[in-house]
Parts: sequence; structure tokens; C-alpha cells
Amino acid sequence: MSSVAQPPPTTLECGRDLLALVEQVSEGLPPAEPEHQARCGFCQEAIARLKAALGALRDLAGEAVRTPRGLSARVLEQLRRERHSVLIGAGSGGRDTVSEVIVSQIARRAVLAVEAVHHASVVSESRQDGGVDLDVRVTARLGPSLPDLVEELREEVSAHVHALAGVRVTRIDVTVDDVAIDPDD
Ligand SMILES: [Zn+2]
Repeated sequence: MSSVAQPPPTTLECGRDLLALVEQVSEGLPPAEPEHQARCGFCQEAIARLKAALGALRDLAGEAVRTPRGLSARVLEQLRRERHSVLIGAGSGGRDTVSEVIVSQIARRAVLAVEAVHHASVVSESRQDGGVDLDVRVTARLGPSLPDLVEELREEVSAHVHALAGVRVTRIDVTVDDVAIDPDD
């Protein structure tokens, strides 16, 4: 063991950051290092797993905020499989953090499905007791009362994360960073 600072637990075995791949896949961004990705089995494995997991979520987001029960169960089942599969490619120590990444993505999609939300980011932190704490930051569209919006976000995020990831949300901090008066600007 060296005394050098520990690498982030989301580092793939090739040294690339899994979070960057999550962004790439979920936001449809071009790869930061296309030549490396074209050659790297670790990156390709992770991208394939993320595409499968996030594709299921994207389909879900395309449905409605109120999810049919049967669909939730299928997505949950797939996510559990994919989450486990992603871990294999993520190397040692990645287990919890990969879960956090997926949980963050689920939560973010639940947040974005709320009409009054213009932009959102979510950071999740797993707890020793198996629950997860979420830090949700949004830019809201001008219109609904912010206390009502925050309450709706808490309910939606908690329900989706529990239904899709099987994770108990222990705490949700919602911060409304800004209000978009004209979101098209
Ligand atoms: Zn790689």
C-alpha cells in the first residue's frame, strides 16, 4: 500500500473516471478520449452496462411520472442486474459508489420529470445503514410556489429511488438555486 492519496472509488481499471462515462452516456456527450475508448475493454464494458441501465430509465422517463407497477418491477429487476454488472468492471472499492451513481441518475430523472424544474443536479451519498442521502439542486421555472415544488420533489425522488433502485432514501436536501424567468433565454 502506498501513502499516496486514495484514487476516487469510481476509477475504472484503466484509470478513467466512471462518472465521466456516466455523463457521456446519460447526456449523449462525445467521449473525452475517443481513441482510448475505442481500444479499452474496461471503458467499453462500463459504457455498455451504463447504456443498458440508463436506457431503461430513459424509457421510463418517456412514459409518465406515475409509473405503472409492472414497469417499475421490470426496471427494478434490470437495474439490480445492471448495477451488479457495472460493479465488475469498476474494480475493487467501486461497489457503493457505482450504486450512488445510478441512484443519482434515477433521482435526477425523477426531478427533471417534474414540470416546474428547468435544470437539476443530484449527488447521493450512501450510508452505513444501507440508506442513501440525496442532495438535490434545481433551477425552477417561475410559477409554482417553491415550498410546494420542494415537497413534490421530495415525494417524487423518494418514491422513484425506492421503486427503481430498492434503496431507502434517508434524507433529501432540496436547494432551489435559481428561478428561470424565461428558460428559453
Ligand atoms: Zn478505459
